[in-house]
Amino acid sequence: MSQITTAPPTTQTPEELDVVIVGAGYSGIHQLYHYRKKGYSVRVLEAESDLGGAWWWTRYPGARVDSEAPFYQLSIEEVWKDWVWTERFPCRDEVCEYYQHVERTLGIKQNIRFNSRVVSARFSDLHHQWIITTQDGFVIHSRFFVLAIGAASKSYTPPFADIANFKGICIHTASWPKELPVEGKRVAVIGTGASGVQVIQSIGPQVAHLTVFQRTPNYALAMQQRKLDKESQDKSKRLFPVMFRRCRQTPNGFSFDKYPKSLHATTPEERLLFFEDLWTDGGWRFVTNNYMDIFTDQEANDQAYAFWRSKVCERVHDPEMREKLAPTLPPYPFGSKRPSLEINYYDVFNQQNVDLIDLNKCEISKFTPSGIQTADGVDHVFDIIVLATGFHTFTGPYTALKVHAADGTDILEKWADGVYTNLGMTVHGFPNFFYMYGPQSPGSCNGPTCSEVQSDWIVGCISHALSNGFTRVEATREAEIEYRRLILELNERSLSKSSPEPTNFKGDLAQYGRLCWEVADDSYRGFVFSSQVGSRARL
Ligand code: NAP
Repeated sequence: MSQITTAPPTTQTPEELDVVIVGAGYSGIHQLYHYRKKGYSVRVLEAESDLGGAWWWTRYPGARVDSEAPFYQLSIEEVWKDWVWTERFPCRDEVCEYYQHVERTLGIKQNIRFNSRVVSARFSDLHHQWIITTQDGFVIHSRFFVLAIGAASKSYTPPFADIANFKGICIHTASWPKELPVEGKRVAVIGTGASGVQVIQSIGPQVAHLTVFQRTPNYALAMQQRKLDKESQDKSKRLFPVMFRRCRQTPNGFSFDKYPKSLHATTPEERLLFFEDLWTDGGWRFVTNNYMDIFTDQEANDQAYAFWRSKVCERVHDPEMREKLAPTLPPYPFGSKRPSLEINYYDVFNQQNVDLIDLNKCEISKFTPSGIQTADGVDHVFDIIVLATGFHTFTGPYTALKVHAADGTDILEKWADGVYTNLGMTVHGFPNFFYMYGPQSPGSCNGPTCSEVQSDWIVGCISHALSNGFTRVEATREAEIEYRRLILELNERSLSKSSPEPTNFKGDLAQYGRLCWEVADDSYRGFVFSSQVGSRARL
């Protein structure tokens, strides 16, 4: 059993609620909206001081959504009917403004306790309740407990040698301060993932010198950003209900789908024109709308890579730099890692003041007081080092927020020999507990659609329990074993196999949604519902 995190003692009498949700991003707000509508007593606990989830603290320069409008929003009509986006891919500040619009429309803050970082939660078998404790000692009791904290709430800093010796500013993209001038500075960026690409293209034109430390090239796609006007958005709203429904029927949570034709059934001319069209449409269309066999057939995948590479080579002047950014031989299958969307990312590497160090050829040896020393013995001097090195995804958040079963077992102990969940939302041994966008949930899709698919299912399950007088619902071990088998099978079939453990559901979002509703329609197959008096019913 692990040590249970303690919080300062409190004299407050705990509230007794139907549902407690952690996190005030899209997932948490969607949950809150539906429980309030049903008349359940509900509270959201949010660690930050305002709405927005990850967008609230994502302040690094250039932060922007990679999912396009109108798909990146809640499907709640009261909210979308009066909201207008200004850009196809909105910037972080516009997303935060959208959250304030959500508040003006729904008045949700009255149900949210801000600055409330949950440190532990433990199930009481006696009362069929969760006892939830925040860092400031606030305790709350709730029949159901829902984690809506996303996959990226705990930042990852690699164990670089002597990192504390650096005397300049070393900052992770997840904790960017409100003010950090970069103009005229010598800056390093380590990491070329979603955040790295955005920071690099944003600060590249401003800094005195930029050194990018790249381990794996990002197959970044042309964003094809554009302004959006109110008139055309207002016109399209007539179809929003259909559009939001359609988003749930596609592999990636947008209203569009793969092209229903094999690449091999086309001529080279047809293929070239089709690839060009997708590229001109921009965003993720080159991945989401491409030939149906692009991710299952190596030859088709190689052709998509070759086209992408030709686009990068047109932009990057120096042949050596081209080879680092878009190697002749693909370092990994096209589309198997989340690509970023770029505006001027590749152009930045034509600037005289920008270098790229390929960490596969020359590793970081250590941090020094003035910067970074690489394996070739060169000392690189910096004023600012940016760690764009990502997050402890999926199980990472559970290291700071301890979730305990009734016997004190920590959820991470349960997962020590492999992650077992049912539907990527529930865990055997942890009754009345649900999570979203976590281990074995769908990973690679439009965030709001995915969270609404899960949110609706959780609302359905909790409503089923409450309306039938059940006080306890728990996934069975057998159901977890069966779901894990599916997760491993989907991983095996994918061109992007994860090892040792796939963190997410690698099927289509539509397939995932169908599976969840089949379970619900089959009287919640794989779940045991019971009531406090002890009459246990398998429905
Ligand atoms: P990320 O995409 O996981 O990228 C992390 C980067 O750090 C990768 O390039 C990784 O290289 C590199 N890295 C990790 N350890 C390293 C080491 N020891 N030495 C050198 N490089 C190292 O993380 P992120 O950019 O923070 O994004 C995380 C998630 O947040 C995304 O997947 C996305 O879901 C979300 N996000 C979304 C947006 C958006 O919508 N615009 C923006 C930012 C973030 P390898 O590839 O070799 O591992």
